[in-house]
Amino acid sequence: MTASRNPITATIPFDQDGIHHGHLILPWSRDESAWGTIRIPICVAKNGEGPTALVTGGNHGDEYEGPLAIVEWTNSIDLEQVTGRVIAVPFMNYPAFQAAKRTSPIDGGNMNRAFPGDPGGTVSEKIADYFQHTLLAMADCVLDYHSGGKSLDFICLAASHILPDKDQEARCAEARDAFGAPYSLSMREIDSAGMYDDAAEALGKTFVTTELRGGGTNSPHSIAVARRGLRNFLIHCGVVEGELEEVASRKLVQPDGDCFHFAELAGMVELTIDLEAEVKAGEVLAKIWPINTTKRSPFEVKANRDGLLIARHFPGLVREGDCLAVLAVDG
Ligand code: ZN
Repeated sequence: MTASRNPITATIPFDQDGIHHGHLILPWSRDESAWGTIRIPICVAKNGEGPTALVTGGNHGDEYEGPLAIVEWTNSIDLEQVTGRVIAVPFMNYPAFQAAKRTSPIDGGNMNRAFPGDPGGTVSEKIADYFQHTLLAMADCVLDYHSGGKSLDFICLAASHILPDKDQEARCAEARDAFGAPYSLSMREIDSAGMYDDAAEALGKTFVTTELRGGGTNSPHSIAVARRGLRNFLIHCGVVEGELEEVASRKLVQPDGDCFHFAELAGMVELTIDLEAEVKAGEVLAKIWPINTTKRSPFEVKANRDGLLIARHFPGLVREGDCLAVLAVDG
């Protein structure tokens, strides 16, 4: 697969100094628009030689902290402070973002399960392929924002992964800590196949991701963490001049799969502990009340292990198999 086969074209140059606002143009022929296109906003700020940082939000279309941090930054760039290049794509899965959905309404594509993509595939696969072969290829440091979306709510954390290359793992952890979220997590993925994270890490990039609350909305605190984190990340990567705003960050790890708790049946969920609270193994994390009768007691979901509640199911109803609660421990 080569980048040249991908039908996406950029309206802005990647190799010229200056601040360039434009679009990635993806042809999308359909009933309502025979020669239609999807126009994904992009900003490239370049000033001389130096590293390239690629920053993305909207990988999932119902997460807002990253897009809000990125568009504020692209609207207030001081090019004299830039050394090298910043490529900013605030709404990566743009069709999903326009629809305020996690996945694309066009093809159901979950951008974070679509990598390495396919230049001749679906709309989502074409976007993934363009990132894989064109944008990631230019990047040294990659920051991909996530929040919990409509179905999860997280504590505010920046994360990096355990990697086979320990030098790369340390680089990623340093960039994660520089981001300066209240929590810094060595993250365990339950389903890493097709993730943008994996694609960037496999290419040797310094990669940081986040989870900054969720519920399909945002808050002054979560936005402030996202914005401070972007400035800090760009300074840490050597792309923007400035002083790191250092923050006390609690280090967390997820030692095993017992951190994850899934609903074994459907019903109305009653969370019995708050985010950031500590639980002991065997303690009740949540109750699931049946909604087809008034005379049955709830099913109790008990903690598999000791830990801090870092994420919870957000909506009031759960279905069988939904992720209900996630724990992490100090590390
Ligand atoms: Zn996400």
